Amino acid sequence: MLQLERNPQSRKRVEAQMEAGGGAVVEIPGETDWREAAERARGAVQVDIRFASFKDGRGFSLAALLRERAGFAGKLRAVGDLIPDQAMHLKRVGFDDVAPDNDNLDDDWARARARFTHAYQPAQDKRTPVFRHRQAAPAGDDLAALNARYRGLDAMEILDDAIRNEWTGRIAMLSSFGAEAAVGLHMIAQIAPDTPVVFLDTGRLFAQTEQYQRALSEQLGLTNIRVLAPDSAEAAAEDGDDRLWQRNPDACCALRKVRPLARAIGDYDALITGRKRFHGGERLALPVVERIDGRIRVNPLAAWDAERVNAYFKRFDLPRHPLSDMGYASIGCWPCTAPVEDDGDVRSGRWRGRDKTECGIHAPAERIAAE
Ligand code: SF4
Repeated sequence: MLQLERNPQSRKRVEAQMEAGGGAVVEIPGETDWREAAERARGAVQVDIRFASFKDGRGFSLAALLRERAGFAGKLRAVGDLIPDQAMHLKRVGFDDVAPDNDNLDDDWARARARFTHAYQPAQDKRTPVFRHRQAAPAGDDLAALNARYRGLDAMEILDDAIRNEWTGRIAMLSSFGAEAAVGLHMIAQIAPDTPVVFLDTGRLFAQTEQYQRALSEQLGLTNIRVLAPDSAEAAAEDGDDRLWQRNPDACCALRKVRPLARAIGDYDALITGRKRFHGGERLALPVVERIDGRIRVNPLAAWDAERVNAYFKRFDLPRHPLSDMGYASIGCWPCTAPVEDDGDVRSGRWRGRDKTECGIHAPAERIAAE
């Protein structure tokens, strides 16, 4: 068993109580409703929350609810299928210890724990919690402060802070369910699988993308997919012949992507994207945090390259988009996407032969109007 060293004083108290034979140890599956779990934890000195799969994040939510809503003060132990990358999240939601099924990875767990610098909540160990660090962040431009705070953090840490702290309940992931999308989606599935995932169904997607969206969402346990479609009256008026993509692709993207997103974006203060600098073009200078039309975009994978993406797929055995094996390195709508010829430019198959490299959902409205 590995200690997360969250709360040494409560640990001592609990261990003394257990030695004296006081209080039960109960095991509760991570998928249990928190009220039922709170009932079962009543009078227990230790609760083991079982993770059936490391991909299933419900045990994290259950731990947080037992601590925060039910006020459970005994020992919380995570048991089951867990991986070292989850050490930070286990600790932050209130676990004291972890007993993974695969306990041959002690060094990896130790390394993962050593990366902790801040605690999520105030605790008796007097570690400075994240929100106090944030209050001490440099004054002035908040974007600069956010980028400074995220500098040096890995993508999971950025996402964890964005979803659980900075924009709690006001953030969504924007996903095309394209060639690299599984990486970011897998990360948010571990942090909070009920994070809204906004998916633009343009009416021009490959059938394989729609299949992949359903299968991947189910596999990762994502529970809040929000499908956005073009307005049918606008589509009939502007694209009656289904050839707008050919005549005027900017107008087609505006109809099928930009306006549907603009109508839905008011629900959120921040959107997470999967864009990366190695995609080239305008993305070469992509910051981790930016503001577009008054709303934040968080780009936790900005610094990732193709090698890291591939390694992540391999490590977590993530399924590839069915078109990836056919040379499609970046996948959008079928009329405007082709396999890549030049391996060095992953987006070279998008709008091939046209002077267009982006659809406009990441551009300020003012610029789109001028184009
Ligand atoms: S990518 Fe092509 S088909 Fe899709 S919305 Fe843009 S122009 Fe239309």
